[in-house]
Amino acid sequence: MSVHQAPPQEMPWETVIGLEVHAQISSVSKLFSPAPCGFGAPANTHVSLFDAAYPGTLPQLNKFCVEQALKTSLGLGGTINLLSVFDRKNYFYADLPSGYQISQLFKPLMVQGVLEIDTGQGPKSIGINRLHIEQDAGKSFHRSKEGVSAVDLNRAGVALMEIVSEPHLSSGEEAALFVKKLRTLLRYLGTCDGNMDEGSLRVDVNLSVRLPHQPLGVRTEIKNVNSVRFMQQAIAYETRRQIERLSQGQAIAQQTLLFDEKTGITLPMRQKESCDDYRYFPDPDLLPLVLTQEMVESTAGGMPELPDKKKKRFIDVFGLTEAMAHSLTEDPQVADFFEQTLRLPPGDLSSLGVLSPLEAAKWILGDIFALANKHPLSVDKWPLKPGHLAQILEMVANNTISGKIAKEVLILAWQNQQDPQEIVRSQGLFQVTDPLAIERVVVALLQEEPQKVKDYQSGKEKLFEFFVGQTMRRTQGKANPSLVRKVLKNHLPHPQ
Ligand code: ADP
Ligand code: MG
Repeated sequence: MSVHQAPPQEMPWETVIGLEVHAQISSVSKLFSPAPCGFGAPANTHVSLFDAAYPGTLPQLNKFCVEQALKTSLGLGGTINLLSVFDRKNYFYADLPSGYQISQLFKPLMVQGVLEIDTGQGPKSIGINRLHIEQDAGKSFHRSKEGVSAVDLNRAGVALMEIVSEPHLSSGEEAALFVKKLRTLLRYLGTCDGNMDEGSLRVDVNLSVRLPHQPLGVRTEIKNVNSVRFMQQAIAYETRRQIERLSQGQAIAQQTLLFDEKTGITLPMRQKESCDDYRYFPDPDLLPLVLTQEMVESTAGGMPELPDKKKKRFIDVFGLTEAMAHSLTEDPQVADFFEQTLRLPPGDLSSLGVLSPLEAAKWILGDIFALANKHPLSVDKWPLKPGHLAQILEMVANNTISGKIAKEVLILAWQNQQDPQEIVRSQGLFQVTDPLAIERVVVALLQEEPQKVKDYQSGKEKLFEFFVGQTMRRTQGKANPSLVRKVLKNHLPHPQ
């Protein structure tokens, strides 16, 4: 079909998306220089002479960065090119003092990987076209009020992995799942911290639309999406824009667009360059990057358990639901917190004692996530440690405290960084399991509420819950709830 024919609006357009993700490699120093990489340092304090492109300086490849990229390539199940080549991508910009970026175009480190996302209708495999290593550029600042532009070269030369997906994604939701899954994988591998707000993970969206069974349409590339939410907004807007244009018989220009977070629309930035514009050629200062099969094998042997495998194990071994296992394994630190709470030697369920994995999971995903979301903290900064949660779960399982008190103990332990057992001891929060003690409270309550007792007897059975609530209240929530129900049943007259 030619783009000049105007298809009716209700045509079933398909969205086709491929993502280019720039992931900053977690490393102490830069890709080709010993300058440090830390985020947030004062401007131009992390710059070596090479990063500033002083004449006569030469690149020195950082082996650790290569190992990180190799690990990631293996995590994505790709084919490793034992020989890859660094190329110069030439362009002019103030934050690129050398006038070229060192990247890998013709022979990247990895090709043909795959990342599986869970769409809700089952898993979908998204092809990874390539992973290559490249340098980051510096940052330009335009202060229009002062009428100055400034350059910070701290980021110049920091190692990046560019991970390019095949155009296998078909909606904003799928793109979001892909980015989140990739971020999870990178965090498991420890090869990139995945922080989008600090720019360690940056996504460019390539998008086109087409009618079913038609060849791929002309695509636009959207830059500057700084969060998963903005990416979805940008995709929704750009999809609508392209469908509208094509429906009116207008063509799509192959362009680079910028997403404007304030207005939620995409705007043209420049006509898309082609490879020729960059005059790529192999960097004469660098030898080809040659890896040995042994190096690949030893890296493959040292891989941690990856998210899909961990999730499956949490379902199979601990009996968690798919949704629970997904939420617990999204962040490797949360998964560790869960497993440390259970204090299990790997694969040995016999030492679980009274601890229930399902309960531990519910507490983490419910009450603990709620507390953690109030003051966003990474898991290692949580004031509550796995051992503390284990204490709480044990006290509930042994009937030392009620479930209701347990929730209060958790909050106190979180706020005061106090030992839960100590909180229960010092505040006398032990569960009342003595039937006589509960009976005393019930008898007094029924004497004070003769009208309610009468109403209950004459058929208002709902009042039973009122009596339960009052008894719990009078014991400051410490009474064992099932015992309270039993005692109340014995003492209340039968409803008529
Ligand atoms: P370039 O390097 O010029 O940006 P690539 O061919 O390497 O181009 O593709 C870049 C990204 O664009 C990849 O993620 C790819 O999946 C995606 N892509 C390519 N063609 C299309 C298309 N017609 N619609 C949507 N995405 C596309
Ligand atoms: Mg591109």
